Amino acid sequence: MNTSSTEKVVIIGCGPAGLAAARQLKLYGIDPLVFERDEPGGLFLNACSVINFPGVPEGISGRELIGRFPLPDRLMRSEVTLIDRTDSIYKIKSDRGISTRAFSVIVASGTVPVTTVIPGIEEARIRYDVKNPADFHGEQIAVLGGGDAALDYAMTLSSRYTVNVYSRGDFSKAVPHLLRKVQQNGKITLHINNLPASYDEDLIVVAFGRVAELDIISEKLLSSPPEDGSFHMCGDCINGKYRQASIAVGNGVEAAMKTVKYLKRYGDL
Ligand SMILES: Cc1cc2nc3c(=O)[nH]c(=O)nc-3n(C[C@H](O)[C@H](O)[C@H](O)COP(=O)(O)OP(=O)(O)OC[C@H]3O[C@@H](n4cnc5c(N)ncnc54)[C@H](O)[C@@H]3O)c2cc1C
Repeated sequence: MNTSSTEKVVIIGCGPAGLAAARQLKLYGIDPLVFERDEPGGLFLNACSVINFPGVPEGISGRELIGRFPLPDRLMRSEVTLIDRTDSIYKIKSDRGISTRAFSVIVASGTVPVTTVIPGIEEARIRYDVKNPADFHGEQIAVLGGGDAALDYAMTLSSRYTVNVYSRGDFSKAVPHLLRKVQQNGKITLHINNLPASYDEDLIVVAFGRVAELDIISEKLLSSPPEDGSFHMCGDCINGKYRQASIAVGNGVEAAMKTVKYLKRYGDL
């Protein structure tokens, strides 16, 4: 198994799960090749105030917290388009036409928003996430959704705009401390059990309906993933409703440890 042009480990995604996996591998002397199509940090860059991550009880923004994670030494700013495996070697294709071979793969690709059609609203007024309120314009923003992400986005946007949050339900799914903060924020209005027929706001943020995007994994690999320890999926892309950074980090560490075990067993460490 000692082919010099073959990577020991390729990681797809540089959010909390991918970063944690890369860090753990580094501790074992492995420098994985990490693919990231966007900004390293993933969805966590959107989090306004994180208070449930161990070690930071006082609260911290996702951007600041993720900034404390060391970046992998080998970061490839490119989108992976296909992962397949033949004869125990993975082939990873990416959008720059690069084809990479690897002994093992960790998929940490998170989720993507489901594109939503809002009758009467042109696509240009719809957004699916909030990284920086300065990227928005106008005076009033609508946020659609009743969960933590919707309330967190409302808090971020309230630094510059007035915000209406519209939910089909009563916000009982949201974490109570965040709901209290929103209720105390004079620039945010909550509209309970109410999705209006039309929106007067300048922009509309859709903050519900994210799904794992796994179609980069070949059908064969996805339907019967190898059980030899060479292939792992971790973080939000497998966590269903339980999408939290600390869970993603734990998953990433576990995937890395199992990968090390695989590499040791087959003699490449
Ligand atoms: C508004 C908001 C607030 C939040 N607040 C909290 C909080 O307070 N506490 C908490 O624990 N969690 C919070 N979360 C959830 C947390 O952000 C996620 O659970 C965490 O980011 C998941 O990490 P991940 O690495 O699995 O996925 P992601 O963070 O989604 O990272 C996946 C990465 O993979 C990249 N990628 C995907 N496909 C490809 C490809 N084909 N090729 C190359 N790169 C690819 C993406 O660009 C992305 O950078 C919040 C989320 C949101 C939206």
